[in-house]
Amino acid sequence: MKPYDYLIVGGGLFGGVFAQQATAHGKKCLVVEKRPNLGGNIYCENVEGINVHKYGAHIFHTKLEHVWRYVNRFVTFNRYTNSPIANYKGELYNMPFNMNTFHAMWGVITPEQAKKKIEEQRAEITGEPKNLEEQAISLVGKDIYEKLVRGYTEKQWGRSCRELPAFIIKRLPVRYTYDNNYFNDPHQGIPIGGYNRLVDRLFEGCDVVLDTDFLEDREKWVQKAEKVVYTGTIDSYFDYRFGELEYRSIRLENETLDTDNYQGVAVVNYTDRETPFTRIIEHKHFEFGNQPKTVISREYPSEWKLGMEPYYPVNDSHNQELYQKYAALAEKERGVLFGGRLAEYRYYDMDQVTASALRAAEREFGAIL
Ligand SMILES: Cc1cc2nc3c(=O)[nH]c(=O)nc-3n(C[C@H](O)[C@H](O)[C@H](O)COP(=O)(O)OP(=O)(O)OC[C@H]3O[C@@H](n4cnc5c(N)ncnc54)[C@H](O)[C@@H]3O)c2cc1C
Repeated sequence: MKPYDYLIVGGGLFGGVFAQQATAHGKKCLVVEKRPNLGGNIYCENVEGINVHKYGAHIFHTKLEHVWRYVNRFVTFNRYTNSPIANYKGELYNMPFNMNTFHAMWGVITPEQAKKKIEEQRAEITGEPKNLEEQAISLVGKDIYEKLVRGYTEKQWGRSCRELPAFIIKRLPVRYTYDNNYFNDPHQGIPIGGYNRLVDRLFEGCDVVLDTDFLEDREKWVQKAEKVVYTGTIDSYFDYRFGELEYRSIRLENETLDTDNYQGVAVVNYTDRETPFTRIIEHKHFEFGNQPKTVISREYPSEWKLGMEPYYPVNDSHNQELYQKYAALAEKERGVLFGGRLAEYRYYDMDQVTASALRAAEREFGAIL
């Protein structure tokens, strides 16, 4: 008999939801996390009384009713509604593209006037768009492309929009209402008291070992439990046998400022090409904070190299094929369940990863408790 039923590698949301369900079903879990804290990417660090989203801004939003009910068992969400602002060389526009944006851009007042303006500008592109620039103009017209899409996208990809393939942007949602709510989902918010509260509740009852990389001593760890739930990168689990999967990364530069309100909103996108960062996040606004100081994070796109934080998978055909090879190995690996954004090499929003962990738990235990 091994001392634990499950060894959970990685203390992120997937690991947390699975651990909560396992514990509820009377199973004993040991969690091994290589960072100094649980929470994975949703971990927040308290600075000056402000919950700073250490691994990038996280806004919970969902249309999955069962996921919303599930997370609300552990935390209450505030009424934060994501309404980012775009700053183009000092001109401010509301996001997502809506009547407020069009009014600021052209002075139009009615949806009909806005539609006419966009249609005129879209008509510039005839035939199949040959690159991302043509694709974006064919979707939203020249002005919005020039001021709100071009610089931001070029900074993100480090290449000109004329050199980028059209398929990167499939849709650019346009709303002909005065509605600045970024998401269409019926539920959104930030846990009152921060994400760490949710994380603490999910891992309640588990034994936890921090600052420990499972892969550095995997023999020792697997002997401690009947089964493993692995949420780290899939290529590292298989010692990069077929090569490394690629990611896109970001670099976050945090600064504490001696003012109570720096930009008046949580998210400002800098959409010109010259400003080197893509966004400034002012964390206190996620929770309507009234602390005397504020903390901001400038977000810089960055090339990813092995050893850096793997943020966004690059789901092009090369990486996808590579992933399939690893996934085939994972399927044959006995006693190990692979889950979460790193082990499945896919971008998951928090609600999706929660749903995925609940599905895994249901398969394992037969019911959700
Ligand atoms: C910049 C950014 C912004 C985002 N914003 C949003 C948002 O606004 N809304 C939203 O819904 N979603 C957002 N997401 C997605 C969200 O972060 C994920 O859905 C969620 O964090 C996935 O949880 P996970 O458990 O799969 O992975 P993770 O949170 O990455 O957890 C995996 C954990 O495993 C640990 N680990 C890995 N390998 C090992 C090892 N060998 N040994 C021990 N531990 C290991 C890692 O340290 C990590 O703690 C964002 C993602 C990024 C990158």
